[in-house]
Amino acid sequence: MTLTMNTAAPIITVDKVTKNFTNPSGEQLPVLSDVCLELREGEIVALLGKSGSGKSTLLRIIAGLVQPSAGTARLREAEITAPNASTAMVFQTFALLPWLTVRQNVELGLRAQGVSAYERGERVTDAIDMIGLDGFENAYPKELSGGMRQRVGFARALVVQPEVLLMDEPFSALDVLTAENLRGELMRLWAETAFPTKTMLMVTHNIEEAVLLADRILVLDNNPGRIKGEIRVGLSQPRDPRSPAFQALVDQAYRLFTDGGFDGDRASIAPTPTTRPLPDAGVDGIAGMLDLVAEQGGRADLPDLAAGLRFEVDDLMPLVDAATMLGLATAADGDLELTVDGTMFTQADIDSAKMIFARLARAKAPLVATIDHALGTAQNHRMRDGFFLDLLRRGFTEESAQQQLRIAIDWGRYGELYEYDADEHLLMRDPAA
Ligand code: ADP
Ligand code: MG
Repeated sequence: MTLTMNTAAPIITVDKVTKNFTNPSGEQLPVLSDVCLELREGEIVALLGKSGSGKSTLLRIIAGLVQPSAGTARLREAEITAPNASTAMVFQTFALLPWLTVRQNVELGLRAQGVSAYERGERVTDAIDMIGLDGFENAYPKELSGGMRQRVGFARALVVQPEVLLMDEPFSALDVLTAENLRGELMRLWAETAFPTKTMLMVTHNIEEAVLLADRILVLDNNPGRIKGEIRVGLSQPRDPRSPAFQALVDQAYRLFTDGGFDGDRASIAPTPTTRPLPDAGVDGIAGMLDLVAEQGGRADLPDLAAGLRFEVDDLMPLVDAATMLGLATAADGDLELTVDGTMFTQADIDSAKMIFARLARAKAPLVATIDHALGTAQNHRMRDGFFLDLLRRGFTEESAQQQLRIAIDWGRYGELYEYDADEHLLMRDPAA
């Protein structure tokens, strides 16, 4: 099975696709540059990239809605020059016609294909049943919740029985639970032998979602968009987001997503809490690891360090990421080396160590800086944790949003930048500060 999958001719081939848009002042804006990718039978591919990296444009090129400036997109051997019956798309914003009922919206997908009225009726009913919309056939989009609207979006795409299903951030406008349900249902359909779709390409900016669903994750670099790397997710479905193997893949994707000049020409734009998440590492863990490195003369081999602690190197990665993010250490060639700040941190008394940590966290940990700044301007220097959680939910799953806040609280408390009252859900400036 796996063998035939890997050797089969690709269904979709994107071959050195470049796309430039002309902006209103007449300049050429490069959006995609030399992008190559293949979609093969039986695989789900996730396309991960920041906002503006050209993900939607690439999807539209594969759907035949946009023509590349150079290079080609092919469906098997045939160059894609127009929308076609083999490919369907699900949009983030559902893109339903408000004056049509659920049934009529779903049927839209078929009208263009010249399917007879009788067959249209049958297929629409099937698609509506399959995606759990029965009973809502005659409702209008405005009468539906976001989750139900996106079901219509899926039904409209699936009614054409597409070989290739393209999805542009299909779950990101939904609340966490609804998104989880719909993801689960999509994966159940995908596992059915009768499901007509042979390959799926999903755009997302949610790393956990990519690791949850995809067999391969392609990371798109910004400005102009080019494929920066690929991660193969060799886990069977259903996947457990709490498993170490899952978390290791999330970490790997984070690193590919964030390192190595991801921002290209936009490097001057400051990283934000969502573009630069805090590694899941507590101050105790970071400090403990740095102490061990200090004991070894300020430089340590990571696998040795891990073995000494009876950990896997992967278990240390969040600590290593945190230490390098904060500028306490640098990692290269499998070694971890203390910086000047890192050395001072390990030698300082507790108050000085806290001050060093506070300075670095404020400068290099975007979420800590955001909270610190917000509290500085807030009345009474107090804010509800829900405010930050709400912001974080835009870029993270519920679980990760909570985790991010927990880490930022740990770091900020240690540096005495702010305090947290868990009962009142309040973040506050340390009154003494
Ligand atoms: P993403 O989906 O990754 O956020 P898009 O593909 O939507 O990125 O857009 C990439 C870049 O191309 C953005 O800077 C966007 O403003 C620009 N862009 C997209 N479509 C057009 C268009 N039709 N005309 C001009 N610029 C466009
Ligand atoms: Mg987009």
